[in-house]
Amino acid sequence: MKLMTPGPTQVRPNVLEARSRAFRNPDLDPAFYEFYKETCDLLEKALGATDHRAFILGGEGILGLEAACASLTEPGDRVLVIDNGIFGKGFAEFVEMYGGEAVLFSTDYLEAVKPDDLRAFLEKDADFKYATMVHCDTPSGVRNDIETLSRICDDYGIMVVADSVSAMFGERLDLGNARIDILCGGSQKALSAPPGLTMVWVSERAFVSMETRKTPIRSFYANLLAIRDYYQNRWFPYTMPASDIMGLRAALDNFLADPDVYERHERIAEVTRKAVTDMGLELFLNSGMSNTVTVIKVPEGTNDQSILQKMRHDYGIQIAGGIDALAGRVIRIGHMGENCNLKDVQETLDALRKVIKA
Ligand SMILES: *Cc1c(COP(=O)(O)O)cnc(C)c1O
Repeated sequence: MKLMTPGPTQVRPNVLEARSRAFRNPDLDPAFYEFYKETCDLLEKALGATDHRAFILGGEGILGLEAACASLTEPGDRVLVIDNGIFGKGFAEFVEMYGGEAVLFSTDYLEAVKPDDLRAFLEKDADFKYATMVHCDTPSGVRNDIETLSRICDDYGIMVVADSVSAMFGERLDLGNARIDILCGGSQKALSAPPGLTMVWVSERAFVSMETRKTPIRSFYANLLAIRDYYQNRWFPYTMPASDIMGLRAALDNFLADPDVYERHERIAEVTRKAVTDMGLELFLNSGMSNTVTVIKVPEGTNDQSILQKMRHDYGIQIAGGIDALAGRVIRIGHMGENCNLKDVQETLDALRKVIKA
């Protein structure tokens, strides 16, 4: 089965091979601490971080989102939840789970958040400890300019938590040029390692905010302060999944050795959108389409399940349907990371054309 979903994505053989090697004891072997730190240093470099430290956590992408909210939120804190998609809105649940008051800034789900609209909103109310935002909201495929949005929040003294799980390593992101306090990523999207790991990039300002809380962080596993000093202390709060991290490192080395990544994502997203509209299908969004996933309306006269099933059974290609409010309404092609090559995308589009025709 060829995986063409917006995560998990295809995994290169050298990543699978890295995960099968003998591993060290992550708690006791000093060389593991060096390996882990070196990998985090490369993660910082990969996104142009200047003021951030990167960490790899043992848990799926969702763990990073929850860890950010658990570590920053104190009971009663007001948090601005920028809601222009399912993941965007979903942050409100994490905020409230840890006692915060989530205030939604809701915008049109069919286009990216307009920076001027955010500024106008903050002119009226900017009393927030932090704001949450999503780089690519995968269910709709909308891409937000989180560099600009985060700088606007910073103008009002508001910290920022950004979910770039399905964008980073496929969409350009210059952390040094943004004002993001906690950036969240996952192993199984554009980085193209198997699912299982979260990556977070944490600013010094975010750590100061955690340290000066009046109440303790109400989690152990999702407490970012617990892992902060792992290197000085040669201590992790829990045993690190060594094989997963070896795989992630191989995937990161693949990314760093590829000078054409971002241009390729742009080109292939463009090719995909054109092919989809040329075959008479309609894109879900009005504008703001990401370069990592293309979301397509299910045409009249058929349904998502019969399209997905035919793609799988007749052509051996797995694409995705919609989730939540979009269930049954859209199908999605993930062209990020290892999926982002012309051969696989062409094959997927050729199959889709035949399925739709049938
Ligand atoms: C995939 C994804 C996550 C992580 O979700 P998982 O279910 O843990 O994979 C978070 N945010 C976005 C936008 C995602 O696409």
